[in-house]
Amino acid sequence: MDPQVEQQLAPLRARCKDQGDIVRQLKESGAPEVDVKREVQELKNRKKELEDMILSLSPTDTFDRAKMNDLIKRRFFYDISFAIYGGITGQYDFGPMGCDLVDNMLAEWQKHFVIQERMLKVNCSILTSEVVLKASGHVDKFADYMVKDVKTGECFRLDHLIKQHFEKKLSEKKTSQEERETINRKITLLDGMTMEEMDRIVKQYDMKSPLTGNDLSDAMEFNLMFPIYIGPSGNLKGYLRPETAQGIFVNFKRLLEYNQGKLPFACAQVGNAYRNEISPRSGLLRVREFTMAEIEHFCDPDDKTHNKFDQVANTEMMLYSACAQMDGESPRKMTISEAVRGLGLPSLGLLSTPMEVGALDFFLRDRSYILGHEPSQADVTVYKALEQPPPKHLVHASRWYHHLGSFTHNERLDFRGERSSIEQLTGGRQKGLVANETLGYYMARIQQYLLKIGINPKKLRFRQHLNNEMAHYACDCWDAECLTSYGWIECVGCADRSAYDLSQHTKGSGVKLCIERPLKEPKMVESFIAVPDKGAIGKAFKKDAKAVQEALAALSNEDAEKMDKALTETGEYDLNGYKLTRAMIPSFKREQKKVHVEEVIPSVIEPSFGIGRVFYSLLEHSFRVREDDDKRTFFSLPAVVAPIKVSVLPLSNKQEFVPFTTKLADALTELNLLVRVDDSTGSIGRRYARTDEIAIPFGVTVDFDTVNNVPHTVTLRERDSTEQVRIPIDDVPLTVKKLADGKIQWKEVTDKWPRFIAQETTK
Ligand code: AMP
Repeated sequence: MDPQVEQQLAPLRARCKDQGDIVRQLKESGAPEVDVKREVQELKNRKKELEDMILSLSPTDTFDRAKMNDLIKRRFFYDISFAIYGGITGQYDFGPMGCDLVDNMLAEWQKHFVIQERMLKVNCSILTSEVVLKASGHVDKFADYMVKDVKTGECFRLDHLIKQHFEKKLSEKKTSQEERETINRKITLLDGMTMEEMDRIVKQYDMKSPLTGNDLSDAMEFNLMFPIYIGPSGNLKGYLRPETAQGIFVNFKRLLEYNQGKLPFACAQVGNAYRNEISPRSGLLRVREFTMAEIEHFCDPDDKTHNKFDQVANTEMMLYSACAQMDGESPRKMTISEAVRGLGLPSLGLLSTPMEVGALDFFLRDRSYILGHEPSQADVTVYKALEQPPPKHLVHASRWYHHLGSFTHNERLDFRGERSSIEQLTGGRQKGLVANETLGYYMARIQQYLLKIGINPKKLRFRQHLNNEMAHYACDCWDAECLTSYGWIECVGCADRSAYDLSQHTKGSGVKLCIERPLKEPKMVESFIAVPDKGAIGKAFKKDAKAVQEALAALSNEDAEKMDKALTETGEYDLNGYKLTRAMIPSFKREQKKVHVEEVIPSVIEPSFGIGRVFYSLLEHSFRVREDDDKRTFFSLPAVVAPIKVSVLPLSNKQEFVPFTTKLADALTELNLLVRVDDSTGSIGRRYARTDEIAIPFGVTVDFDTVNNVPHTVTLRERDSTEQVRIPIDDVPLTVKKLADGKIQWKEVTDKWPRFIAQETTK
């Protein structure tokens, strides 16, 4: 970045870093979670301050959202649903252009992931039974906070309401400086507040409904799922699925069988998901119904290597690590191999062998060999400070001083700065930035896909979740974020969800969702087993008796102990909704068994695409205005995703033109290319402009030379450069096909055929 800009950013970076250090210290000292949360929130606020400043100082982007929206509306890419009745926010209908663009994005997704990675596919029910979403945690936890207008019942998302109220106050002249400061402070803390804290603010400032001025209810939690009742009786409660992933998890057993019991394998699903967002906003970015494309990659929890990792190892990516966010640093470009394998140095906290200390010495003398990430500036500063004994009251530093001092100079010299991985240096105690190869592999593949469909590489980064952003079960999570006029937007999530989902559904259904892994040596294990009275169970549960027996057989030792205790103490036990009594399970027994396999719950790596968000970012990234005419706007979409691949434009509507136009359009269609014939009377320039607007990458013009001269030739034009060549009409279909499939580039066409200047004949 420009040094002057860096100078302006330096104080903001330092503020992040100071706060990051506070968070680290609190975590290290085992401070209470509320304190950590508060400071993490402050860290996020400072990070946002820094990012806003970076955006405001970057070279001005001339993107004009109003202009783009006008084009989107005029050429019906998409529009608000039920517009003739006034529309509903958060719901959109896609027109012909939007549909084709989404279809092409998904077709490319299918090729890039499902076909190339040989994934399995499923298409599961959208109407989802409550038990499934109870087990996944969505029924209890998938919620936002809101308040209601007590008279009209209108709902407001709590954080949005408070922010709006405060912003209004800030705009009023009568608000004192002191009040402004308090309000600003509260706005920055809003993101991490609990419901009770926000509720107190609503009451303290006597906030009313912004629409009617009526009183507001107490704050409440609002589950974002759409509840439904399946069937006419209304007895079976369910929800519209809030994500497609659960359909894959509940089918794991069948999928594993289909895959002959082998790991790893991945399964993909594309379909709509539904979230009852309290206040949808920012166009397609926050809606209530959207298409997701999700992949669940199941692998051995102890082996997350990926056999194709080497194929992507050199992919360069812009990574914004949690550490960099905490230190107020910028995202960094590095190869995914460096990010996963961590070619760099261990951080000070992990130095414990002479070789590791040697590595740091080496670094301090000569940075040149560093290939991956470097130790943070904080580490270097502390390490340098340790050359002098630190004052005794700095207990932590003193400990390090003595520890590092215990290695002799010669011992340290053993390290010569070879390209060792951080994992080798620390004996596996510190790994790279990205948790494992499989996660890294998918991150690289996600990037390749996004670039292929036309996402601007300069407006793409992968941001690692901070510890408290990540679901408690996830061990690492990176979001592919695209920069848009709304800021950086999460478009694809990529998480290592460990064994969480399959464990939850194993508990919820009583069906073991695991694999059997051969043991190196057989071992004896003790099982605690329920011995049921089959007759009593059959009598009590009739057709469900088999399911009860299976659930009993699948009980873990721990659950069997719990059941025995409950039956003794209360006489009853609830097993997945079946009420069991002592008479049904008269006894339990302990058994020693020699086992040759162990049951292991696979880990899940999940790339999850919000297709609408990728679609919108793609439109922003490819929106262009012609330099010589600011009314001529168009989308510069790559041919692979452009809805219509080629236009055919006869220069005259004379009868002699018709056979040429028809034959050409038919030959192009025969190659599965979507063609638009525009034989309207407008000037050719205006017709080109119309085809550019809907992103048609190639245009063929049939002119008087085509009709009059032999061999018959036409012009072929490329949208972005507006360059044209003269080409025999019979060569057009295959050339366009190759261009549209990305098999050849436009340059090859201009190298092969003469540039077109003007027609020889005009009648
Ligand atoms: P999540 O399961 O919340 O991580 O969401 C997965 C992906 O779905 C995100 O990366 C977004 O791209 C997309 N997404 C989530 N919520 C919405 C929404 N309300 N509207 C549009 N896209 C969304």
